[in-house]
Amino acid sequence: MLRLTDLKLPLDHDDAALPAAIVARLGIHADELAGFTVVKRSYDARRRGAIVLIYSVDVETPREADILQRLEVDPEAAAGDPADGAIASGSGKVGPAPDTTYRFVARANGALPTRPLVIGMGPCGLFAALVLAQMGFRPIVLERGKAVRERTVDTFGLWRKKVLNPESNVQFGEGGAGTFSDGKLYSQISDKRHHGRKVLTEFVAAGAPEEILYVSKPHIGTFRLVSMVEHMRATIESLGGEIRFSRRVDDLLIDTDADGVRHIRGVTLADGGEIRSDHVVMALGHSARDTFAMLHGRGVFLEAKPFSIGFRIEHPQSLVDAARFGPQAGHPLLGAADYKLVHHARNGRSVYSFCMCPGGTVVAATSEPGRVVTNGMSQYSRNERNANAAIVVGITPEDYRPYAPEGGPLAGIALQRHWESNAFVLGGGEYEAPGQLVGDLLAGRASTAFGSVQPSYTPGVRLGDLSTALPDYAITAIREALPAFDRQLRGFALHDAVLTGVETRTSSPLRITRHADGQSLNTRGLFPAGEGAGYAGGILSAGVDGIKAAESVALAMVAAGLAR
Ligand code: FAD
Repeated sequence: MLRLTDLKLPLDHDDAALPAAIVARLGIHADELAGFTVVKRSYDARRRGAIVLIYSVDVETPREADILQRLEVDPEAAAGDPADGAIASGSGKVGPAPDTTYRFVARANGALPTRPLVIGMGPCGLFAALVLAQMGFRPIVLERGKAVRERTVDTFGLWRKKVLNPESNVQFGEGGAGTFSDGKLYSQISDKRHHGRKVLTEFVAAGAPEEILYVSKPHIGTFRLVSMVEHMRATIESLGGEIRFSRRVDDLLIDTDADGVRHIRGVTLADGGEIRSDHVVMALGHSARDTFAMLHGRGVFLEAKPFSIGFRIEHPQSLVDAARFGPQAGHPLLGAADYKLVHHARNGRSVYSFCMCPGGTVVAATSEPGRVVTNGMSQYSRNERNANAAIVVGITPEDYRPYAPEGGPLAGIALQRHWESNAFVLGGGEYEAPGQLVGDLLAGRASTAFGSVQPSYTPGVRLGDLSTALPDYAITAIREALPAFDRQLRGFALHDAVLTGVETRTSSPLRITRHADGQSLNTRGLFPAGEGAGYAGGILSAGVDGIKAAESVALAMVAAGLAR
């Protein structure tokens, strides 16, 4: 199989144009093209009047050996000629298609003395458990929240009735933080072993649309995620795994051997029960603040790490579509437009857009009472009126000092709690979010009425002055960034665009540092993984890290003679 990349065609090309472009690129006859599969489709919208689609395809042809030999002799030949209707790229590539088949690293040797535990059933825990189950290790998953349908009811309780369940909400429960989301499935992680492909393939097997395997920025939306998570749970159980909900891990059982090496021996649950295990994957997510404190108290190595804070911004989706796609706005292959913006402010801070949700809604995402946190989600159709994204400012452990003068790994949580509690007060004390119009923030005056943009956040938005909702350096940087973003995306600094806050859970404020073998720096048998451990950011990368955690556990079992 050959892989061809960077095949460019006009947005409205006909069905025959792609095979014609392949034939031209390879310099073969049409009847020598035995078949092809699109492995990636993206678009280049830099010229709004002439948006082009860019394809990567895997091609079957009896001429494969001869083509590869020709390329060895003359690599320039890979560029080929543009086909009729194709747009010359000059940078086209041809080569052998990579083997993306997932291969298990081990198999369990029958019954094990203790079963591996997976703490948390977000994307990281889900994939750790799935791959462990597929290798025959029969994992037990312990999840503090509820099964996804019951959890949905609790999550809506905050959004519609202002009632928070601290154990069952947007952050906690089956499916993890990504369940009520846009379900964006892309990441910039380096993925030489194609674990991302394994994640996407399993998602398709669980009911995701096939297109996630080839569109460049796939998304699933909330509705499908719920049933996919249930499907994956059933698969894990059918392979001998077990999933226990409403089981919060509150403590660790740790032994220290004669050489002073610490080994995990199991966990204690909130209900007082104990489960013994020598292999524990910690896939906690970034909001398990109580569990982080417990790990710190038990001497597990943790360290503070940078993250970002800011606001959500909402514009009419039609404004973003027009700015990105011009006359092509609304084209079915393009869908609702997204954006990615960065500005380096004069005060040294970077401001950037994050977790952009086209045609979506802003959601209440706190897991702690008396705090307000924003985030975004959408359905697969992305057809809500507003586009939303976080506009956030990078911060580092130096910035956490005013909130935790003693420093330490939990200092970033003190900063988060401070600004989330402040947002709760600014919002009126009933989980409404404080908000302000962009024009008013830039002019330095409080907002009193919405204009052309109605915010989507429920329980509601209380207008006022957001300049006290974040540290001064963050406000200064955001004020500078908004007009700069307007130059990158026309209309971004729209007076009536609505800012709500605060966005404080962009990634984990700490890292549960691990060795290259996946185990905690100072506690053997403990495998920190996913976003909460500081090794992932987003659904796809958390899933990939879950697979890596499963592999690390399996290899540790091989070393212990429990697997082959
Ligand atoms: P989590 O998903 O946070 O899962 C951790 C799990 O551990 C939770 O279910 C929690 O209940 C459980 N847990 C915690 N402590 C304990 C304990 N002591 N005992 C037992 N269980 C415990 N990312 C994207 O890539 N695309 C998006 O479109 C996107 N949209 C998002 C929208 C929203 C509203 C939110 C909140 C996040 C979004 N994200 C998105 C981020 C994404 O959800 C996370 O990056 C991802 O879920 C991290 O996966 P994880 O498995 O590491 O952690």
